[in-house]
Amino acid sequence: MTRSGSNNKKKITTVVLLGSIALAITLFTTVADAAAPKIPHKADISHPEGSSPWPTYGEKPKTNTPEVKAWVKSIDWSKVPNLPIRHTDTPGDPPECPKKGVPKGDCWWTCTGCYAPDDVVDCPGKNDWGLTFDDGPEPGVTENLFSLLKEKNVTATFFVTGMKSTKAPWLLQDTIDQGHHLASHTWSHSGLTTLTNEEIVAELKWTEKYIFDHTGYKIKYFRPPYGDIDNRVRAIARELGFKSVIWSNEWDTQDWQLAENTISSKQVVGIFNAGLKSLPDRKKGVITLQHDGDKKLVTMARTLLDMGIKKGMRPMNIAQCLDDKVGYNAVPALPASAAPKKPAAPVAVPDAEDEDVTQAGGVEPEVSISTSPKKEDHGAVKGAANPGKKSAAATVSAGLSVAGWTLAAVVVSFVL
Ligand SMILES: [Zn+2]
Repeated sequence: MTRSGSNNKKKITTVVLLGSIALAITLFTTVADAAAPKIPHKADISHPEGSSPWPTYGEKPKTNTPEVKAWVKSIDWSKVPNLPIRHTDTPGDPPECPKKGVPKGDCWWTCTGCYAPDDVVDCPGKNDWGLTFDDGPEPGVTENLFSLLKEKNVTATFFVTGMKSTKAPWLLQDTIDQGHHLASHTWSHSGLTTLTNEEIVAELKWTEKYIFDHTGYKIKYFRPPYGDIDNRVRAIARELGFKSVIWSNEWDTQDWQLAENTISSKQVVGIFNAGLKSLPDRKKGVITLQHDGDKKLVTMARTLLDMGIKKGMRPMNIAQCLDDKVGYNAVPALPASAAPKKPAAPVAVPDAEDEDVTQAGGVEPEVSISTSPKKEDHGAVKGAANPGKKSAAATVSAGLSVAGWTLAAVVVSFVL
């Protein structure tokens, strides 16, 4: 064998080797892409580089960030009463009620059970059942709740926390895609009356922003953790455009204790049965309190759903029970600088659904529905959050890339 023949062989070997490496990398990328969780990418648009990171999991959001300062500035503080910050021995936990009692004007639900006229406490329609699940999302559990509710053909309101959402952001869009209603349960699940005004603003607004960035829906309803609300918290929430939702008297199922083994299933059924007995005397419907976060609670949700439906209750989400056709706050148009970028020309051949994928023009779509949001209503948001479409394009792209490398290797070896 000549020296040049040996060199050619080396060259061919090198080219084939490089081609194989490229092929391996491409295939690996494709598989990784297909297996990636459904995380919408809209956060990249409205949470640009240079802005503060999302608040830390398990901590109250900081108040010295530019975002919180701007939100605080947007409030008419003359409408917020100067009530004391309530005491708690353990930060984050609900407050202790003062022994000397609470002035009537505070309307502090935690300690006196006082409701304000605009608190949402019941469903107006008799036998209407506002079904609510708090404290999610929880991967591995929330999906089971979705399956159960689908099987029963009912929808619910999910009061999610911002911090839990950061662990499973794709479940926010899934909640909407399943026809359910998303609402806020604050960022860190702290007793709101124990927080400063600025901290309350940060809890509500970061959660709103997180949900908006990942779904395009601007939250309208919020539930204070532990139902801990007084007239100061209410006024701040009102100023920010939120409606407070608590739950009907005697319809707190206490199901969360099942996860802690501090209550038995029989006891939860007993609590619910007591509520059912009062049903014929109630003029209005009810809002129940249940939780997302443990499989035992899903099993209990099935039991309670069957019991309630048998007694003529009509389960539905909070927007439906209030006959709120929208269920979310209106979304203002974004400035052009924040507009979603039109993606590069797709590699895949366009199909009938492609008109959904991109909405050029850069204006945030108005939310037009609530209780059963359909994909068409998302416009620009949906385009960024359509994982199936992305995977298909990536697969085609990867296929072309593989073909290209193989062809290159064959051509080079032929020439050499
Ligand atoms: Zn909660």
